[in-house]
Amino acid sequence: MKNLLDNSLESCTTKERENFISKRIKQQFDYNKNKTPFHTNRLPEYGKIANLSYEDLFKAIPYMTKSEVRNAESPMSLVANDDIANLRYSYSSSGTTGKPAYSFFSEQDNDASIISLTRTIPELQSNKQELTVYNGYNQAHISGPLFNSMFRHIGGLPVPRRFGISDEVAYEQITETKCNILTIPWTSTNKGGSLEDLLSTEAKLGGNYINGDNIKAIYCSSIELSEDLAEEIQDLDIPLIYNSYGTTEVSIVAVSCQSNPLSMHLLPGMTWAEVVDAQGNLTPSGEVGRVIASRIMSQRNDEITTCNSSQYFFYEIGDEVLVDRSPCQCGRTTPRISQIRRFSGINDNIEGGCQTL
Ligand SMILES: [Zn+2]
Repeated sequence: MKNLLDNSLESCTTKERENFISKRIKQQFDYNKNKTPFHTNRLPEYGKIANLSYEDLFKAIPYMTKSEVRNAESPMSLVANDDIANLRYSYSSSGTTGKPAYSFFSEQDNDASIISLTRTIPELQSNKQELTVYNGYNQAHISGPLFNSMFRHIGGLPVPRRFGISDEVAYEQITETKCNILTIPWTSTNKGGSLEDLLSTEAKLGGNYINGDNIKAIYCSSIELSEDLAEEIQDLDIPLIYNSYGTTEVSIVAVSCQSNPLSMHLLPGMTWAEVVDAQGNLTPSGEVGRVIASRIMSQRNDEITTCNSSQYFFYEIGDEVLVDRSPCQCGRTTPRISQIRRFSGINDNIEGGCQTL
């Protein structure tokens, strides 16, 4: 992998990917041990992990938990002192179930996160095409601005849902601006504004816009997507469905391919995630394990480098997933996850106006 636009890590052998990612983990470990106040005392000496294999790194490096982050002296302690002046973006969970966890990004790490995401929507980049993207996600939360940037990066025009409007007005906004991509939660949150809400609004108004004649793709971020809902979208003849998964702390970690919107490929990008059991062994195909995610790759002058903002490193997201490590029909060899079950922090995310980010 030369830079974050290079997708070779998604089609190479597992061994090649693990070797590459091991090096990235070790570099980020060294950086965190030496520079990040939060990690300096909790990480073992570098010598203890320097020669470990990919698999063994997941047994040797202690996992970070949400409560450990909340109890930190300050969210700034997750950032190396020299990097605080470079921070440009601040996101946080809403804090309804406890102190909010902050997530900061430098311009460099934010770009890295977006560049890796653009690799997951190749079908929308094949030709020069007009992409007008309704974005129904909360603009005060990470997902709203992140998806705007992703579509902007491939030449699209994001049209964010105006603040505080009803679903009737949002529907008008979509038809008026002739949006041809909908970025939107699948099911209702307590903030409204889901695809289901828009479809019932359309039915009430007697409209006929949300279908394959006008909409090229639906992009969402949802652990709620079920076979029934996916079928409902397919019945509207909308050709492309993307589902993504991530958290405020580490950004997007998995995105579906066109083979199956219910199953998502782990994404080698700014963040890399793995699925492990209680002892830190990699979970084999067909079994359920816990998701551990680390910010490990950023980019400077077209070269891969260490991340330089909030150091979520071997962070236990708080979700269990079913893993499939077999190659996919789409050609990617990255592990796939499905049946995501959130067992902590869900209230924070729903309050934030978004189920999974
Ligand atoms: Zn696939």
